[in-house]
Amino acid sequence: MTTVALGIPRIRTAVPDTTDRPNVPELVDSFGRVARDLRVSLTEKCSLRCTYCMPEEGLPSIARDDLLTPHEIARLVGIGVHELGVGEVRFTGGEPLMRADLETIVAACADVAPGVDLSLTTNGLGLEHRAGRLAEAGLHRVNVSLDTIDRDRFAAVTRRDRLPGVLAGVQAAQEAGLRPVKVNAVMLRETLSGAADLLSWARETGVALRFIEEMPLDADATWQRENLISAAELLEALRERFDLTPIGRDDPSAPAEEWRVDGGPETVGVIASVTRSFCAACDRTRITAEGTVRSCLFGDDETDLRAALRSGADDEVIAQLWRAAMWGKQAGHGMDAADFARPARTMGAIGG
Ligand code: SAM
Repeated sequence: MTTVALGIPRIRTAVPDTTDRPNVPELVDSFGRVARDLRVSLTEKCSLRCTYCMPEEGLPSIARDDLLTPHEIARLVGIGVHELGVGEVRFTGGEPLMRADLETIVAACADVAPGVDLSLTTNGLGLEHRAGRLAEAGLHRVNVSLDTIDRDRFAAVTRRDRLPGVLAGVQAAQEAGLRPVKVNAVMLRETLSGAADLLSWARETGVALRFIEEMPLDADATWQRENLISAAELLEALRERFDLTPIGRDDPSAPAEEWRVDGGPETVGVIASVTRSFCAACDRTRITAEGTVRSCLFGDDETDLRAALRSGADDEVIAQLWRAAMWGKQAGHGMDAADFARPARTMGAIGG
């Protein structure tokens, strides 16, 4: 069995130089972007083993004491919203439904930040039994990750024969009012021929489908640019069955470019993270399951907020650490640079 490390990013021990940083409360970076969209990873554990994300044996376990508690997560969300201008919060992982205390986490965050958009990125497994309670706890929306509705291909890509459970999760989310339910599909060579079927299913089911280009963040490190299914190739495949009219982006920081399908009202989104990067408009800030701030998926410098929380730091000290971490955000993912190196952490260990 191969052992895949969770990834040891560079944890900053000194506060980054913020001499030139304007004295504003928001999470500004040195390129003028402002982060308002917070992603909080809750665990490294997952119920699937998607080949483009997880190693077959799963990621090495994070010790229980190293995970942020519901109280700590809510405290950071409160600081983000009240001190730093965060306007939306998305829970991710790993698989957030692997945490038995997810409802407690959502309720604590809804309590500390009433009215702030709380959403979940999930593979949908288990949602069938928890969607109602999550909605009651204060969750607003879910994004379900689903790459194909062909059961055999699903089993091959995820290494688990669990498509019916995902579909039941999508239905439960809709019934619980966690709308709009969005479905995210990573574009893969193995599933390209089923992309049009997935779009037909999404239209019939009433979910908003978005395809995403695969990024070099897989634990098995097999990603190669030559194998990439680009947005252009995907659109060509979809056009064999559908008439697609470009609409553009909902707002400039939205990663998905939208297309109207057969005159509408349904649309399909394409997130061209590799071939048409949207880094210049990125408004994300991330907290890992162990409580470090990560300013970019591809930037390994992380700042440890958990240590500050546990040493009794007050909100302003934590806010300052967070601001400094974001000030150092890199310009872009750098995939096109000759010296591009994959980050130490993979997608499942960062929180996608
Ligand atoms: N387990 C949850 C799920 O399946 O949505 C949340 C975590 S998962 C890492 C978040 C998202 O990242 C999913 O939509 C997944 O498809 C996407 N993802 C994982 N690896 C990726 C990669 N190499 N390139 C692009 N997207 C990826």
